[in-house]
Amino acid sequence: MYNNSKSLFERAQQSIPGGVNSPVRAFKSVGGTPVFMKKAKGAYMFDEDGNRYIDYIASWGPMILGHAHPAVVKAIQEKAADSTSFGAPTELEIEMAELIRSMAPNVDLVRMVSSGTEACMSALRLARGYTGRNKFIKFEGCYHGHADSFLVKAGSGLATFNIQTVPGVTGGVSNDTLTCAYNDLQAVEQLTEEHPDQIAAIIVEPVAGNMGCILPAPGFLEGLRSICDKKGIVLIFDEVMTGFRLAAGGAQQKLNVDADLVTYGKVIGGGMPVGAFGGKRAIMEKIAPLGSVYQAGTLSGNPIAMIAGYTLLTELKNNPGIYTELEQKTAYLHTGLQQVLEAAGKPFVINRFGSMISVHFSDHAVTDFTTAATADIELFKKYFHAMLKRGIYLPPSAFESWFLNNALTTEDLDVTIKATKESLEEIL
Ligand code: PMP
Repeated sequence: MYNNSKSLFERAQQSIPGGVNSPVRAFKSVGGTPVFMKKAKGAYMFDEDGNRYIDYIASWGPMILGHAHPAVVKAIQEKAADSTSFGAPTELEIEMAELIRSMAPNVDLVRMVSSGTEACMSALRLARGYTGRNKFIKFEGCYHGHADSFLVKAGSGLATFNIQTVPGVTGGVSNDTLTCAYNDLQAVEQLTEEHPDQIAAIIVEPVAGNMGCILPAPGFLEGLRSICDKKGIVLIFDEVMTGFRLAAGGAQQKLNVDADLVTYGKVIGGGMPVGAFGGKRAIMEKIAPLGSVYQAGTLSGNPIAMIAGYTLLTELKNNPGIYTELEQKTAYLHTGLQQVLEAAGKPFVINRFGSMISVHFSDHAVTDFTTAATADIELFKKYFHAMLKRGIYLPPSAFESWFLNNALTTEDLDVTIKATKESLEEIL
């Protein structure tokens, strides 16, 4: 069933570390051979052995309207004929910035980059440059890309592979990274008191997706906002997952809390390598060439990447019903999964926000990294493989959110619910 994937994986390991260009793809945490994909259309991915999968990762977020969206594909094809890069400014970059500002109104200025990592790394440097302070607070289990400062209790792949400290990240760097539990406002308050006038920023995933899907407790984000206001700290929302996914205006709009700086990735590029950071004018004006906080990119604002993102964001902006549909589909899946999981009699928790959802085999609420990590990870691995065998592609890790795409039909969701029922019968 996976013969071609198996031989491709063997071949890949000869010339690519671990056979993959991003660690979680290797299936190391769930075991088995990673499935090599050949093509995808709408809600379905097709592997090198001709197997079809209903896709619940959407390329880890970007493919919110499904794969190979006709408008996006057409726009890329047309744009490519005019050259794939100039290294000089284009009108399209202005249009993209204007579009982002129209969707996230508290973003006064926005700078395009090529990944979520770059966006978060640059936003943090900017917050440090703006405040003249070095330290920052992040939350255990939140991932903000692989820049050195963020690789401390970073969820996602690091949690998947149980990497506690990352060789290569110096103590000098990680000493400036302060961490506490997600949803623990009191701990944040305490850190700010222990390090007066030293904290440049608090960076947070407003809905966390890198330890499964974890919801902000009522008042948590508002509390961060008021601590930042009181102490002159820059509040950074990492909306790499949630931006343009939870609403046209992202988590800021959906949860009605404004950050000072916002980082974007994933959906903003329509599947091309794109990130962005933006926010308040007074802070953004510190970035070069206006200010001396340096940040740059040879391929930043790349025309193919811009047209892909611009086309996808325009679809989302013009059809706000998409968000209602996505939410209804995710709620439908939630209800269906809940029924079959209850019938199976194993303790479980389903967390959901908008079109992000995760299943934890746990008998306690999952509200932060510790409660996510004490779920039954072994059972998740079995569930993952039982689902894969039935043509359902879930994230290959218990520490990742699932992402729904709007090409999913009710029938796909029913097939997924039935597959969960059969999988549980097989593995329990
Ligand atoms: N922030 C968050 C919240 C993410 O989920 C990710 C990637 N999963 C990143 C930042 C890093 O983005 P990229 O992989 O594009 O560098």
